[in-house]
Amino acid sequence: MNYAQFFEDKISGLKAEGRYRVFTEIMRHVSHFPEATHYTPQGTNDIVVWCSNDYLGMGQHPVVIAAMHEAIDACGAGAGGTRNISGNNRYHVLLEQELASLHGTEAALLFTSGYTANMTTLMTLGAVLPGCIIFSDSQNHNSMIEGIRHSRAPRQVFRHNDVAHLEELLAAAPANAPKLVAFESVYSMDGDISPIEKICDVAEKYNAMTFLDEVHAVGMYGRHGGGVSERDGQSARITFIQGTLAKAIGVHGGYVAGTKAAIDFIRSFGQGFIFSSAMPPAVAAGARASIRHLKEHNEIRERHQERAETLRQKLRAADLPVIVTDSHIVPVLVGEASRCKRASDLLLEEHGIYIQPINYPTVPRGSERLRITPTPLHTDAQMDALVAALQAVWAKLNLKMSA
Ligand SMILES: *Cc1c(COP(=O)(O)O)cnc(C)c1O
Repeated sequence: MNYAQFFEDKISGLKAEGRYRVFTEIMRHVSHFPEATHYTPQGTNDIVVWCSNDYLGMGQHPVVIAAMHEAIDACGAGAGGTRNISGNNRYHVLLEQELASLHGTEAALLFTSGYTANMTTLMTLGAVLPGCIIFSDSQNHNSMIEGIRHSRAPRQVFRHNDVAHLEELLAAAPANAPKLVAFESVYSMDGDISPIEKICDVAEKYNAMTFLDEVHAVGMYGRHGGGVSERDGQSARITFIQGTLAKAIGVHGGYVAGTKAAIDFIRSFGQGFIFSSAMPPAVAAGARASIRHLKEHNEIRERHQERAETLRQKLRAADLPVIVTDSHIVPVLVGEASRCKRASDLLLEEHGIYIQPINYPTVPRGSERLRITPTPLHTDAQMDALVAALQAVWAKLNLKMSA
């Protein structure tokens, strides 16, 4: 076997399809969000970032930065071990208490990322609960799909946000088998929101547990930033609420929240938790400061939603094919991988606007898009410049107008 040839052929295949990933090298600057510097072989350019998952700019918020400095000065860089072997810092414990309070749950458990939180929790539930069947939304994130797959539990996929289909599958399963329904609140690529209350209704009817990924909602929805489950008054009905500290919270790490017993079970059996070193204490301190700040500043969430709505209106007025939803995510459809990449390149090179192209397998073929994430810190002037740049690129590449 010629290994080098194999690797190169696989990469050539991606390139031929126009979906080879090229990372854009940037430097973010404190107090200038969403502006950044773009590094190229030819030098540097000033750009405006329109695709950050630091949805509220908290990654550069003074409160967060101060908390991290303070923690690093107090206790150093790394945690020094797994939670079980000398790595259980005071900052981790305080953050878990804060997360439980945010979601109104009895307990919470930290992971080194949202990916590991999903993977480990679902894998552990599916593997350890005898005969457990997992019901999974067809658009669930890769980290949930992989967790379910590695659990080796039987999996039933229900059509996206289709409660009737979910009920059909639940009804057809053996009545006494343990069941778990895994879904998200805000789906990150289309920006649509799941019917949490209705899903809980059918889950309870068939005595199924629920696992809700609130990664794209934590910090941004609900009176205190507890996600769509808080907004909809459903938090108490969810068995596991999962989230990340790396998106709207602006730092790094992931977690699950739930009852004392459920969380203690994952803490005690979840291998991706047990065998991985704890996150740096300063990261935990920064995340905690961010959550506490967001809890008390609902006006940030209101401004965020207003910015998203304003941008949608401007895009529609310009006849650009925006996918309209009621979340903060604003996707604009291109529909073909290489032209999606080309549109993104032109925006960056000619207009100083950074929007990463989203191609298969992240979204289905034919629905390739530019996924725009306006934040409370994007101004009207930046929006007008964005709309003008998109119009210029759409004309140049002869892309389809209107959705
Ligand atoms: C980003 C993401 C994750 C993973 O979270 P990280 O903290 O980035 O590892 C999980 N679920 C969804 C839906 C995501 O978009």
